[in-house]
Amino acid sequence: MDKFISVEQAVSMVKDGMTLMIGGFLGVGSANKVLKGIHDAGIKNLTIIGNDTAFVDKGVGILVANHQVKKAIVSHIGTNPETIAQLNSKELEIELDQKRIREGNEFINNRTEEIEKSKTEVDERSEDLEAKRAELESIVAETKQQEEKLRERGKELELAIEPRLLTAFKRIRKNSRNGLGIVTVQRDACGGCFNKIPPQKQMDIRMRKKIIVCEYCGRIMIDPELAGFAKEEPKATKKRSRAKKTEE
Ligand SMILES: [Zn+2]
Repeated sequence: MDKFISVEQAVSMVKDGMTLMIGGFLGVGSANKVLKGIHDAGIKNLTIIGNDTAFVDKGVGILVANHQVKKAIVSHIGTNPETIAQLNSKELEIELDQKRIREGNEFINNRTEEIEKSKTEVDERSEDLEAKRAELESIVAETKQQEEKLRERGKELELAIEPRLLTAFKRIRKNSRNGLGIVTVQRDACGGCFNKIPPQKQMDIRMRKKIIVCEYCGRIMIDPELAGFAKEEPKATKKRSRAKKTEE
């Protein structure tokens, strides 16, 4: 037998009452010329097996519309109103592909379960969020109270400061980006703008004899001890011990 036969030959092999397995998805990929041949030949009482019954004017659907099909084993008929009409008038028997339907149902069930799970998770997260929000609110309230107290204390302290100095200090604060008017010297640099401060100036700062401002940012500089911070660790110790090691 030849591997290739003509459309006419193929159509001539189809007889009344035969079962045909037809490829394609909604008419796409179906052997449309053969189907047209079967349609024109008027072969009847066919049982078709396929994915669907396509459309009234497309794919295997033309055989249904021409009343040539007595039974269709498919998994979808929704796109062909003729199939549904004939199913309702009991002219056409439909055997929906049970395996596909079962798989479809399983898929739907799995998804439903997933959705349920996600919902529970969302609920739990919402509770967490609510708790955190309440926590944050109480922290904010507390902070506000503290801020209020500090403001009060600030007002009290302002009364004890020479007005000229206070005005100057307020101007420095206003001009500094982080609102700090007084900074400490850290690692030989201004704690406000991080520019290096020469040793002599650092010495002057430590003497606490006069107010010294940073020449770069204008902030008042004080030594860490005055600010209540611990004295900086002397850096030389570590270096010296390491140097000793290399010598050995
Ligand atoms: Zn500075």
